Parts: sequence; C-alpha cells; structure tokens
Amino acid sequence: MNATYPTLLAPLDLGFTRLRNRVLMGSMHTGLEDRAADFPKLAAYFAERAEGGVGLIVTGGFSPNVSGWVKPLSGSLSLPWQVGRHRQVTSAVHAHDGKICLQLLHAGRYGYHPFSVAPSKLKSPITPFTPRGLSARAIERQIRDFASAAARARDAGYDGVEIMGSEGYLLNEFTVPRTNKRKDAWGGDAARRMRFAVEIVRQVREACGPDFILIYRLSLLDLVEDGNAWADVVAQAHAVEAAGATLINSGIGWHEARVPTIATSVPRAAFTGITHRLKPHVSVPIIASNRINMPDVAEAVLAAGHADMVSMARPLLADPQWVNKARAGRPEAINTCIACNQACLDHVFENKHASCLVNPRACAETELIYRPAAVSKRLAVVGAGPAGLACATVAAERGHQVVLLDAATAIGGQFNMAKRIPGKEEFHESLRYFSQRIAETGVELRLGQWVDADALSGFDAVVVATGVTPRQLDFPGHDHPKLVSYLDVLQDRVVPGKRVAIIGAGGIGFDIAEYLTHAGPSPSLNPAQWMAEWGVDPDYATGGGLVPPRPEPPARQIWLLQRSAGKPGARLGKTTGWIHRATLKAKSVKMLGGVNYLGLDDAGLHIEVDGSEQVLEVDHVVSCAGQEPRRELHAALLARGVQAHLIGGAKLASELDAKRAIDEGSRLAAAL
Ligand code: FAD
Ligand code: NAP
Ligand code: SF4
Repeated sequence: MNATYPTLLAPLDLGFTRLRNRVLMGSMHTGLEDRAADFPKLAAYFAERAEGGVGLIVTGGFSPNVSGWVKPLSGSLSLPWQVGRHRQVTSAVHAHDGKICLQLLHAGRYGYHPFSVAPSKLKSPITPFTPRGLSARAIERQIRDFASAAARARDAGYDGVEIMGSEGYLLNEFTVPRTNKRKDAWGGDAARRMRFAVEIVRQVREACGPDFILIYRLSLLDLVEDGNAWADVVAQAHAVEAAGATLINSGIGWHEARVPTIATSVPRAAFTGITHRLKPHVSVPIIASNRINMPDVAEAVLAAGHADMVSMARPLLADPQWVNKARAGRPEAINTCIACNQACLDHVFENKHASCLVNPRACAETELIYRPAAVSKRLAVVGAGPAGLACATVAAERGHQVVLLDAATAIGGQFNMAKRIPGKEEFHESLRYFSQRIAETGVELRLGQWVDADALSGFDAVVVATGVTPRQLDFPGHDHPKLVSYLDVLQDRVVPGKRVAIIGAGGIGFDIAEYLTHAGPSPSLNPAQWMAEWGVDPDYATGGGLVPPRPEPPARQIWLLQRSAGKPGARLGKTTGWIHRATLKAKSVKMLGGVNYLGLDDAGLHIEVDGSEQVLEVDHVVSCAGQEPRRELHAALLARGVQAHLIGGAKLASELDAKRAIDEGSRLAAAL
C-alpha cells in the first residue's frame, strides 16, 4: 500500500483482469490517430505514459465506420487492414506492463463532413453539416459496425474498448429528447431513447467475450436544454451495466454546452459530486473525470468514495511520469497541466497535432529528445521567465553547467502576473514545478541582479531570454496620470477607480478586465459560487442540469477597446475564447471594436467609433497594447562580438505566448 496515496495507487480488480492503480488516462484526440504514418509516434506517446505507471490508457476516438468520422478521413477501425497499425500501439504499451483500450467514437451530428448521421435530421450549432436521419435498418447496421470494430480492436491486441456515449456524440444524441425526435422503437420515452446505446454495449460484449474491458462513457450531466433528467441517467447506468459494461466513465457537458467543463477557470474536481451521486446505483466501478490534475485531488475524490478511478487526459500529456512521481511521494516534481488548452485542444481544432504548453515533448517523443550532452558546457541563461526556465532546466538535465540569472527576486517572469488573474491559479503550479526542476537539475540560480554584458564573461554560451516590455502609447494625453499599464495594476502600484477603460483586447486585456471586474476570492476556488455563476443546477431539477446563471455584480464598470474592427477576443484560443467573452458579458463589460483613440484628459478618454466621437468618463485607462522585445543586453553582447542565443519574447514579441516561449527554450537546450 502506498503511504501517501493509498487509494489512488491501490490496484483495481475487474475479475478477469487487474489494473495496477486507479489512474485512467482518458481519451484525447491528438491528431496522430488519423494517418497510418503517424502510428509509430502514437505508439511512442502511449509507451511513455505506460512506462510512467498509468493504470489503464484509453486512445483517442476511432470511428466504427465512415459516417462516424469526426472529420474527413479521421481515425477509424472500420476495415480489416486497419488492424495492423494498431498492433504497434498495443505492443508498445504492453512492453511496459500497461493496459490500453481503444475508444469507439461515432461523431453523429458533430461530424464535420457531409456523410454525418443522427437519430433525427437536426444540425448542431457547432458544425455546418446537416446530418441524415438514420432509418431503422441503418440503426441496426450502426450497431453491427460497433460490434465489428470492437472485435477488430481485440484482434489488434487492445485490452478493451471504451464506447463513447457522452459529450453530445451519436449515442448521447439518441438518449436525449433534444436531438432524438423519433417516434419509432428508437425514440420517444427514455427506455426507447437509450435502446441504441444499450444494444451497442450488448453486441460489443457478445462480439468480444467476457474477458475484455468494456468502458461505457455515460453523460452524467448534459448541460444543454432538453438533456437527460437524473432518473434517465440512472436508468441508463443500470442498463449498460446489465448489458455488459465493466466500468462506467463520466461524461460532463456536450460540446455545444455554454458551460465550461475543463478550462482552467473550472474549479478542480468540480463535477465529482455527480459521479458520487451515481455510485450507489451501480455495482461496476465508476470513473470520475474533469479538472483532476494533482494526486492530492485524485486521492481526495477516491478516498471520499466519490468514484473508484479517476480519469485524466491532459495531466498525462503534461507529465508522462505523473503516476511514478506520485508513487515515489514526490508530487512537487509533477509538471502540472494548467488546463490552458493552448497546445492540446486548440491545436486539434486547428487540425494540428496536439502537444502541451508545459511539455513540448508531448506527441513529439520521437523527435524532441533530451540526450545527454557530449561535452558539458558552461552556460548563462539571462531571464527566468518561461523561456529561460525551460532552457536552463533542460540544458542542465542534459549535463551542462547552467547559471540562470534574473533581475527579479523570484523566478517566473510574466507568469507571476498571470497567476494573479482570477481563474489562472494553476500558473502557481508551473512556478512550483520549475523551482523543483532547478533544484533537481543543479541549475545555479542568481536572482535580484540586473545583468549587463560585463557579468557574462567566462561562459561557453549565453542565452538571452529577457522577455518583453509593454508597448508605449503615443496618442494625445498619453502622459496623463490616468493612463497606467497592466504592470502597474498587477504589481499593485495602482488601484484603478470604479470606471476603467482598457486599451487593447488581446489575452492580457481580457485578463485585466476579469481581474478588475471580480471582487473577493476567485470563483475558481469556490465550486458552489462557480456553479451559480455558470448556471449549473446542484439539485439537477431539470433535464440537462441547468438553471439561470447568477453572476456576482461587477466590481467596476469596464470598457474593453480595440482598434481593429470586429468582435474583441476573436484571436483568443479556439476552445477558451468564448469562455472569456461570456465571463465579461456577464459582468456587463462594454466591448468595442473599430475604436480610434483621440486623446486622454481630465474629462476622460476621447474615442471615435463608427464616425462618432464620445468621451468615456473613466477614472483610469489601463494600457494592454501589446509588447516590444527587450533586447538591450543582446545588442550589448553583439557589440562585444558575443554571439548570444535569443529566445521567447526577447526574440519576437508579437504572437508570443508561453507555449512558444517554453517550446523555444526547450528546443534550444536540446540542441546545445
Ligand atoms: P518573460 O516572462 O517576460 O521573462 C523575462 C525575464 O527576464 C523576466 O523575469 C525579467 O525580470 C528578466 N530580465 C529581463 N532583462 C533582464 C536583465 N537584463 N537582467 C536580468 N533579468 C532580466 N501566455 C500564455 O501562453 N497563456 C496565458 O494564459 C498567459 N496569460 C498571461 C497573463 C498575463 C497577465 C500576462 C502578463 C502574460 C500572460 N501570458 C500568457 C504571456 C506569457 O506569460 C509570456 O508569453 C511569457 O512569460 C514570455 O516568456 P519569456 O520567458 O520570453 O519572458
Ligand atoms: P496581444 O494579444 O497582441 O494584444 C495586444 C492588443 O493591443 C491588441 O488588442 C491590439 O489590437 C492592441 N494594440 C496593439 N498596438 C497598439 C497600439 N499602438 N495602440 C493601441 N492598441 C494597440 O498581446 P497581449 O494582450 O499583450 O498578450 C501578450 C501575449 O500573451 C499574447 O500573445 C497572448 O496570446 C498571451 N496571452 C495569452 C492569454 C491566454 O489566455 N491564452 C492570456 C494573456 C496573454 P488593436 O491593434 O486592434 O487595437
Ligand atoms: Fe494541459 Fe495546457 Fe498542456 Fe493542454 S496544453 S495538456 S491544457 S498544460
């Protein structure tokens, strides 16, 4: 028994097989599933997680036929010749004593292609294609396709399958009145609506035999109108268990739901109460999911009896050694997923391979390798922001002698400001992780000293990671005391008044607007308040589990402005931008695009929008107008003939984010 996490690391006996612990690596599409040529990379990606000690892995979704594709030619297991490529994955995982299930996912009306099908001919709000309504015969064919794909998965060496019954995909579409308008034997009352899903479980069990893991991912909380009522969820759980499910996994929220379910602002383990509610109704083990990212959170969920296993996908992208580190009682060494979605889900939605902001090796295991250095060099890295931290620690891990210098008294650069934004508390974890890495890898840290070129003699190589400075504005009145920068606000030099205009509606402008509209503790640390703000019904009184949202009143009146036309926030992350816009809308923030700044004086900020002039009578104007690279040190080094490497914001401030900073720092260090 593990002394620190006794429940989390206890084995789970499934009768015919035993899982080595209670950690399920949840299904997540990486983009490596779609082409046979990428399977060696997919195998390496899963192999690292199996070696890292995960109890059971679930692959990204594979469709059982063409109509189930997520997008054209996305990963499927509908043909016999597709089996071979999967053997690379299963044997790589088994080589590390891991177990792996294939997820069978039929996208239904979420399919981004013209062959999509659904229980009824109803277009989803998030895809442009109207699905074909399935005939009764076509439904029978779909069920058979699931069973044959599951049998192929068994042939390919998988230990089981997960049947995707949540998130608003085909099976979930059958189960709810919102999308199932059928009047035949597959629609109408709850029993007929769930028949499709239950029949799939039954036939998959029949096709694969009794000693094959069958996980059913059940939508416990649809978070859309006309979703399932609680009694329907319980009835489905009973029925899939009776039909042969080995484990029930939790699905929370449809993709079209207007409630965030996995973003960083969602409180940790926010939805495990609902898994707990289901637990007494079933006898198979039940799996909790969503925003569980650290072992203490997982242990608490399991020890409280809320679930029998926890599912994590992104935390294992961030750190493949998560389980081994927990087992060793070293949670402080875990590279924590900050739930930003920037390199994982946002990439997938942009048709790129997934990776991870805090771990650029995720899904690049065969290409970005931190080999021991042939010769140990003496390196200076100036700037302990994300770029410098990644560079220094990877270089030291490879065997270089690294000195990391920063003028500030703490590591982290701009992350020290990001962590102060309500809903971005997870950024504290990255700073803790890097402190630990500095200690483990033997980086020599020198803080609190401004570094000039004189201080950098005697090194074999110098890396300049000096970041950025805020862009100065130059319209009339830019020197008025009402104009402050985001740094003044986040470093507590200024407490803005009750009416504030923000210039610049990029990531930082949005963050400042959230910071200034919130009063008191962050809702992300208070699940009950967070649920009320987003309209999640703790009593589950109606189908779907929604109630009218009750946002807290804003602490200030905010105007969020940008010069470009169009809606502010259009360039924010694909999977999180809507959350930021909705949060600010709920706080009555006035967002204006196409703004011309005419001047600032005692009366306020003079602007022109759509040809008409107005004065915003504000107490302060906060400039969030982007940044310029900070390169004085690099220029001084060049003047002395020292060729220094430039990374992060110091290299290029436009389009900079922490993903690029960490990626550049890591890749440079891998090559030094
Ligand atoms: P920096 O973080 O700017 O670090 C540079 C460091 O160099 C500083 O610590 C500075 O003290 C030091 N330095 C500079 N010159 C010298 C010198 N001569 N001597 C000694 N030390 C020196 N990015 C995201 O991807 N996602 C987000 O959600 C996100 N949220 C953010 C929220 C806020 C409020 C802010 C301000 C930024 C946010 N960012 C976010 C941006 C992200 O933090 C930056 O892209 C990232 O920090 C850039 O890393 P860097 O290492 O290049 O530079
Ligand atoms: P940004 O996203 O480039 O936004 C800068 C804003 O300032 C834009 O709205 C720009 O739009 C405006 N602007 C630029 N020059 C201006 C000028 N001369 N006068 C007035 N307005 C001007 O940069 P940022 O907000 O500073 O963020 C920095 C980086 O951190 C970004 O790359 C961002 O992705 C990252 N970040 C990410 C997140 C996240 O949640 N993912 C959060 C915070 C920061 P107009 O020109 O249209 O006015
Ligand atoms: Fe987590 Fe962000 Fe990495 Fe995705 S990119 S796994 S959300 S840290």
